[in-house]
Amino acid sequence: MTFYTALETNTVARRGVIKVDHGVVETPVFMPVGTQGSVKALAPEDVWGLGAEIILGNTYHLYLRPGARVLETWGGLHEFMGWKGPLLTDSGGYQVSSLGLFQPEEKSRLSTISEEGVNFVSHIDGSRHFMTPEVAMEMQGSIGADIVMAFDEATPITDKQYARQAMERTHRWLKRSKTAFDAVQKKRGQVGKSRQYMFGIIQGGEYKDLRRESAKMIVESGVAGVAIGGASIGQAVAQTEEVVSWVRDLLPRKVPLYLMGVGVGPSHVIGAVEAGADMFDCVAPTKLARTGLLYSGNLVERKTGTKKTYHFESEFPKERLTIGKKQFEQDTQVISPGCGCYTCKSGFSRSYLHHLFKARELTYYRLASIHNVYTLVQVVKRLRG
Ligand SMILES: [Zn+2]
Repeated sequence: MTFYTALETNTVARRGVIKVDHGVVETPVFMPVGTQGSVKALAPEDVWGLGAEIILGNTYHLYLRPGARVLETWGGLHEFMGWKGPLLTDSGGYQVSSLGLFQPEEKSRLSTISEEGVNFVSHIDGSRHFMTPEVAMEMQGSIGADIVMAFDEATPITDKQYARQAMERTHRWLKRSKTAFDAVQKKRGQVGKSRQYMFGIIQGGEYKDLRRESAKMIVESGVAGVAIGGASIGQAVAQTEEVVSWVRDLLPRKVPLYLMGVGVGPSHVIGAVEAGADMFDCVAPTKLARTGLLYSGNLVERKTGTKKTYHFESEFPKERLTIGKKQFEQDTQVISPGCGCYTCKSGFSRSYLHHLFKARELTYYRLASIHNVYTLVQVVKRLRG
């Protein structure tokens, strides 16, 4: 089975298809985040119903709770949470690194990094843990995701010397991740478990030469896919696109490109697709929904030369309305007229959602999350042409 096949397209997006044991994913694709084994406020049926083809789980959170033992009893996260489609897990590298140097005050740092791995303190109960490339691969084996990430060190905005050190360590950790991954696959194969594929992560912070050096190394390692990580990614659209443009010529078309943590809103995902990315994930749609921020607008198609381009037109700043505002108290329109999600198609009005939000009714979180996740998933699908 070929993991990834690139396809022709008449849009500016790259198009492709990923095949894993749990199903087929067309790219570009937006992956909703199910941090702790749940896309917040949604049942797997809701997530499937809004068109998501693959979701993401966080190794750091699942390692602390429920832990490997519980997941192994179930044969993995798919069975535990009732998600039948493809699943991707990060390695925990970003979370455990961000507990350390990302914190400006030394006393508030909860992790320290050494060549061997990352020593960190649980945000839940203060217990001490040690995460290594080997532990991360074992844990992702227990979770059983179809796509797993190599263990990396994400660097905050920092001096070049440290960015280089962290990048080189990430490269050494990739080799250790690969050895551990191969051992995990051998064990999984012996008991007939589904096959996993590993991606490597390009680091190098804000420095073009480091990013290029990292991209070359990751591609040469022969991983199934390449990801771009780090603090500079996912924050500002222009910055993300710039980092992608630095390394784009080094990335072969036969491997998918995954931008970690990208997708704050419709324009952000459009920018990332146009920059040449195939996969993204972001907690923004569910997180924004919970705080009352709902995407509203329409995807507009334009023809530039032979290729179609797209932009998202919205009457609201940042492409989202603030449902708690008084102006929506008696607004009979749906969140985004023309939207095909369950919430809008059923006719739930801004007025009703305003009321539910104000009353903190639990139904609000489901209806709002369905709409926001649907919007990003469907915008990316439309970009496939
Ligand atoms: Zn909707």
